[in-house]
Amino acid sequence: MILLDGKKLANELKQEIKQKVDAIIADGGKAPHLAAILVGNDGGSLTYVGHKVKACEQVGFKSTLLHFEDTSISEEFLLNEVSKLNGNKDIDGFIVQLPLPKHINADKVLLSIDPQKDVDGFHPVNVGKMTLGLPSYVSATPYGITKILERYGIETSGKHCVVVGRSNIVGRPISILMSGQSATGNATVTVCHSKTKNLKEMTLQADIIIAALGKPEFLTADMIKEGAVVIDVGTTRVTDTTTKSGWRLKGDVKYDEVAPKCHAITPVPGGVGPMTVVSLLLNTLKATNNEL
Ligand code: NAP
Repeated sequence: MILLDGKKLANELKQEIKQKVDAIIADGGKAPHLAAILVGNDGGSLTYVGHKVKACEQVGFKSTLLHFEDTSISEEFLLNEVSKLNGNKDIDGFIVQLPLPKHINADKVLLSIDPQKDVDGFHPVNVGKMTLGLPSYVSATPYGITKILERYGIETSGKHCVVVGRSNIVGRPISILMSGQSATGNATVTVCHSKTKNLKEMTLQADIIIAALGKPEFLTADMIKEGAVVIDVGTTRVTDTTTKSGWRLKGDVKYDEVAPKCHAITPVPGGVGPMTVVSLLLNTLKATNNEL
């Protein structure tokens, strides 16, 4: 069984990015600059943004965090902040960390981001380009999954890939990428969701399973074909009194019983998660180099 070690791969990719940044600076250019907008003090969001800021430091990027702790800020105020970042020539790309407070229309905010600076790849212009197979910012988690498949030399062409989950940030985009004409695509893809009947019949046919449903340990050994490749996107905090924090992360796959049946599998933590952060850095580097 091959352990698809996202943490190790992310560190390798960070070193490669750092070398590219050093070369840009040696050439008289400026360091890539990523900005993030964070509203409120949601624990998960603070952690994710913290990881992103730290990753920027590790590769020599400049980062700016606009943290509005007051969750009562208006939609208009936030749209104005986005507009300022759109116009700020020093900032190459930026993200708006979700979720936003309920009174702010997240779709409206995401639509107001300049697609050229949308390094999260959530803007419909980028989603549309990705769907058409044109150069675009691919959202970080699906991008990270394709990098794992590419770097570990997992064959996808002609394989049957079953994606469990159809969210706009994971399931839907990765299903499009897996069926696209690319080195990590050309798979025959089945997308499953909560209304899918006989899910086990589907997953048992899969050469590659991408589990992105957010239900801890949902996929069990009896649902997986011998020799399958399993990508576990799920990250749910479950109570664990033996840890300092009182919780630990669980994936969507019952790892201990599934792993022995697999050709390759990502762990949780240390699989898709670290690759998501590094993918954001890769997108920011593309923005700096005006690659799109
Ligand atoms: P989401 O928006 O809640 O979507 C979950 C999807 O799973 C939905 O399409 C839902 O179907 C489907 N689903 C739910 N229960 C199901 C069931 N019993 N059988 C089949 N399908 C079912 O979640 P998400 O944002 O895609 O995230 C999924 C998981 O990935 C979460 O644990 C999240 O924390 C994690 N995640 C991790 C990273 C990372 O970097 N590692 C990044 C993003 C997300 P319906 O559409 O019918 O409701």
